Amino acid sequence: MKYKRLLVWFRNDLRLHDHAALFSAVEKSEEVIPVYCFDPRMFRETHLGFVKTGNHRAKFLLQAVENLKRNLQNVGSNLLILHGKPEDLIPQVAKELGVQAIYFSEEVTAEEKAVESALENAAYKLGVETASFWQSTLFNLEDLPFPVNQTPEVFTQFRKECEKFSKVRKAFPAPKIIKSPTIEWGDFPALSKYGLENPAISSQAVMVFEGGEDEGIRRLQTYFWKNDCLKTYKETRNGLLGADYSSKFSPWMALGCLSPRYIFEEVKKYEKEIKKNQSTYWLIFELIWRDYFRFIAKKHGNKIFQVSGIKNTVDNWNRSERLFQKWTDGNTGIPFIDANMRELNASGFMSNRGRQIVASFLVNDLNIDWRWGAAYFESQLIDYDVCSNWGNWMYVAGVGNDPRENRYFNILKQAHNYDRKGEYIRHWIPELDPIQGFDIHQPFELSTKQLKESGISLGGTYPHPMIKIPKSFL
Ligand SMILES: Cc1cc2nc3c(=O)[nH]c(=O)nc-3n(C[C@H](O)[C@H](O)[C@H](O)COP(=O)(O)OP(=O)(O)OC[C@H]3O[C@@H](n4cnc5c(N)ncnc54)[C@H](O)[C@@H]3O)c2cc1C
Repeated sequence: MKYKRLLVWFRNDLRLHDHAALFSAVEKSEEVIPVYCFDPRMFRETHLGFVKTGNHRAKFLLQAVENLKRNLQNVGSNLLILHGKPEDLIPQVAKELGVQAIYFSEEVTAEEKAVESALENAAYKLGVETASFWQSTLFNLEDLPFPVNQTPEVFTQFRKECEKFSKVRKAFPAPKIIKSPTIEWGDFPALSKYGLENPAISSQAVMVFEGGEDEGIRRLQTYFWKNDCLKTYKETRNGLLGADYSSKFSPWMALGCLSPRYIFEEVKKYEKEIKKNQSTYWLIFELIWRDYFRFIAKKHGNKIFQVSGIKNTVDNWNRSERLFQKWTDGNTGIPFIDANMRELNASGFMSNRGRQIVASFLVNDLNIDWRWGAAYFESQLIDYDVCSNWGNWMYVAGVGNDPRENRYFNILKQAHNYDRKGEYIRHWIPELDPIQGFDIHQPFELSTKQLKESGISLGGTYPHPMIKIPKSFL
């Protein structure tokens, strides 16, 4: 028997392809009402004085929801836009529109779970059924070779067991047609509704990121097929400048515009048609890291947001707002840190290498509470993903489950390995450009005469270093 009408509540799954809840709803009902709800809690100010979702991230989200609406219209449906708390609005709307059940994707972390269960309770009281679907990972929850609460603490063990005993399921096809009733579909919010602004697109950014399934798929087509970058991914992935040193899939994956299983299938196709090598495998390897952080978050619940993480460490973190702000503003006086933070602030993106270095600097050199760094990334990153972000931060802060105890990144050594000529610094801190060669990474080592010749005044055109960083690295 088919349902008359089902509601699909879209969350971080803003796509039509490989969408378990949508696919199932279309199969099981005569009519589907797709819904997206802008939740004002996502845009509130944090106790640290910045908003939970900053301009870049909000703009990317809006674009993704707009694209979802267009794609739904293209298959005969539409997207109902709501503003408010999903748990208050969605069951009510479902009841009013004669919906029999609400379908949605399951999340794993506290705030998302709280909304989910409040919505389920409210729907139950109104006599509306609910069903949640697992998605967003490469390996399905049910296919893990261990109960999720026994997810191995060490990544390598997790990966090896999944690779050996679990199989990636086939992606669901996008529905070709979706029937929906005629209703009032609602309006999009302007960013100003949440006190935000439309950020300018920085011409320095690695690329233009536009939210939405279409752009996500286009990026994959460009990276894999048009520019043929997959076969060298392993060698280039630690880069800092330009669109193609890494896939840049993360912003689309974070909002679910790209499904990991779809990426997996495209890698397999590439391996068959073009080349199979270490690099093609390595992209899948990185997707398994993403799965790992999600399952670890599900296993450990709220601990991933707590100061001692999943370890029993003593809280001796510094909470100096002044030091923290120098880091967020990219005004530490250490060029490799500042360049990365300026990139983040100007574009909402930062390379993986950059993230590790700035995070290590914050927690190891400044000893600032790692959760402040994670919260700032949450606000700024267009690829913010609750599990990947807090999981990686725990790792860097030494409160996660890294078997290598010391994850200190020597900044000048990193600079030497990944930006020997200082091109990255020249790109993001052009005021230092007159300094030749590697010296651009250490203006604080130059003599007054050398600085003067380069037209740089420390404390004037560029800050003094806020701390002394280790010098020897060779
Ligand atoms: C402190 C810190 C915070 C981070 N916060 C986030 C975050 O909020 N969201 C996020 O998606 N990634 C996060 N990462 C992981 C990683 O930096 C980004 O996924 C990666 O830089 C995105 O660029 P890309 O898509 O070009 O990656 P690629 O190198 O092309 O990798 C392909 C995909 O694999 C996944 N991936 C790669 N590395 C990791 C990793 N270390 N952990 C989890 N998944 C990974 C991503 O989905 C990525 O899109 C964080 C890393 C650190 C050190």
